[in-house]
Amino acid sequence: MPNFNIDSQKARTYDAIVIGSGMSGGWAAKEFTEKGLKTLVLERGRDVKHNVDYPTTNKMPWEFEHRERMPREVVEANPIQSKCYNFKESAAHFFIRDQDQPYVQEKPFDWIRGYQVGGKSMLWARQTQRWSKYDFEGPARDGFAVEWPIGYDDIAPWYSYVEKFAGITGNKDGLDALPDGEFLAPHEMTCVEKYFKEKVAGTYKDRHIIIGRAAHLTDPQQIHYDQGRAKCQHRVMCERGCPFGGFFSANASTIPWAMKTGNMTLRPHSVVHSIIYDEKKQKATGVRVIDANTKEMTEFYARVIFVNAAAINSNLILLNSTSSRFPNGLGNDSGTLGRYFAFHNYRARISGEYEGFLDTTTDGRRPNGSYIPRFRNLYKQETSGPASRFLRGYAAGFSAHRRSGSDRDSLGASLKESLLHPELGNWSVGSHMMGETIPKESNYLALDPSLKDPYGLPQLKINVAYDDNDEKMVKDYLEQMTEMFTMAGFTNLRTSDSKQAPGLDIHEMGGVRMGKDPKTSMLNKWHQLHEVPNVFVTDGASMTSTSTQNPSLTYMAFTARAANHAVEEMKKKNL
Ligand SMILES: Cc1cc2nc3c(=O)[nH]c(=O)nc-3n(C[C@H](O)[C@H](O)[C@H](O)COP(=O)(O)OP(=O)(O)OC[C@H]3O[C@@H](n4cnc5c(N)ncnc54)[C@H](O)[C@@H]3O)c2cc1C
Ligand code: SF4
Repeated sequence: MPNFNIDSQKARTYDAIVIGSGMSGGWAAKEFTEKGLKTLVLERGRDVKHNVDYPTTNKMPWEFEHRERMPREVVEANPIQSKCYNFKESAAHFFIRDQDQPYVQEKPFDWIRGYQVGGKSMLWARQTQRWSKYDFEGPARDGFAVEWPIGYDDIAPWYSYVEKFAGITGNKDGLDALPDGEFLAPHEMTCVEKYFKEKVAGTYKDRHIIIGRAAHLTDPQQIHYDQGRAKCQHRVMCERGCPFGGFFSANASTIPWAMKTGNMTLRPHSVVHSIIYDEKKQKATGVRVIDANTKEMTEFYARVIFVNAAAINSNLILLNSTSSRFPNGLGNDSGTLGRYFAFHNYRARISGEYEGFLDTTTDGRRPNGSYIPRFRNLYKQETSGPASRFLRGYAAGFSAHRRSGSDRDSLGASLKESLLHPELGNWSVGSHMMGETIPKESNYLALDPSLKDPYGLPQLKINVAYDDNDEKMVKDYLEQMTEMFTMAGFTNLRTSDSKQAPGLDIHEMGGVRMGKDPKTSMLNKWHQLHEVPNVFVTDGASMTSTSTQNPSLTYMAFTARAANHAVEEMKKKNL
């Protein structure tokens, strides 16, 4: 039974409500509070305060009971989260527990989640590439999805805006496929990465190897010191939370920034159940929230609502927001809500060795890798040759390092000896695929009315799978990388297709897509629901297509742009 009496309605009324305090919600909070809006940020998980709530951040390897490995019973109890490489003793507290958060896999889907203030920004690998004009133009050009209502020029200033604040390291490479940004000093490529770059450049006109672009403060500026953040020390233990604020997370950056304004109310343990639609006013007036501990329901009200619960949960909230005007989910006149869901294809890998440069080794640690921007079907869909067999393309990670061969599992004198005189083998080289998947109507999210989660919300059903296009892309990636590695003289090549279920890429997108036509899309060019313009969705759910870049930088730029538009519209009394 909802509790409407805990406070007066006025005390539960804000200018703006932001659902979710992670990567994108943090930006909405920052933009609104800076501009003087009283903002309520609703977060279903617990609070995680920068530094205060990083219990493992300064632990030494021997201080972990299981040397960072997870005990078998915890792995067995968490068959989904434990597939993520960061689900380890030092960082598992930033993941949900599978048994607490059930969902229905109509087809296998590994849904990786971090429910806490900061969301998955605590766990991410910090790779941040811009989209290019070709990425935005792709759906209209090749006809595989509705046309994006915005292009690169609309978003470019907002990329710059978030890059400057977040702090992005990178090199100005001048590539069409990957526009340059506002970069801090780049990380250095290893000598074998540089060697591969030169070999590839000498052989292929369309292929490039560059140092990754990542959200690390290699060269902090005043705006970063103002956030209380400092230079990245290359500890490479980011998933524990960084005591220096060396990488961008909502916890280290946007959320404390918003808090400092005095305009933010942050409410952890608040599971948003649905958005309230007022049929007379023909707009959303607020949200229903379940207290995660007491399970009591409370309503909160605002002029503007930003949905930033991460793509799948944002879909869930809209699907669960039914009314007689919107019986199939808020703003769902098009019937597209939950549909055209897509992700990235991370199935394929290649590894090998390089027998040169044996007089050098990697020195120190680098929280980044090298990157191969997309080169397939970039300017046009090829009509002959291997790339004509599939739509779109893939980017790839690449790294080369020379690890010490010391046997850390040994003990006593033999451990000491192997640490003091490590044996260095050949250089190891490796690459993984980051493929674009095509948003399809048949890849969908829906509610299961018969199954409830612990908060009384219908469980989400996920019905998503790879298709023939993905299979062909995997094949092409493995063929092309094998050719490139062989050309560079790499040996002992091993290729693999993990056949992993969708989800482990952790780049969920779509379901509430943007578009020009309300009949075929949910959101307009400012991320407003076509039929309920005071509700904005600016996380991955809003993506019309996925391209190949790691998506979070784009969600952040989208959110900052949409929030500033909302403020302008509120000033004009349009919202
Ligand atoms: C291991 C790992 C590596 C990654 N590497 C990269 C990378 O290199 N580059 C990249 O671009 N991306 C990467 N990602 C993905 C990246 O973390 C996400 O794209 C990003 O966090 C999404 O931002 P978001 O705001 O949509 O969601 P989140 O950051 O997940 O935040 C959503 C928040 O909403 C809250 N929430 C959900 N439902 C509700 C509800 N009903 N009521 C209230 N609150 C709710 C959640 O608890 C959460 O705090 C990685 C992710 C992981 C886990
Ligand atoms: S690598 Fe940099 S950002 Fe990551 S934990 Fe270390 S100092 Fe912090």
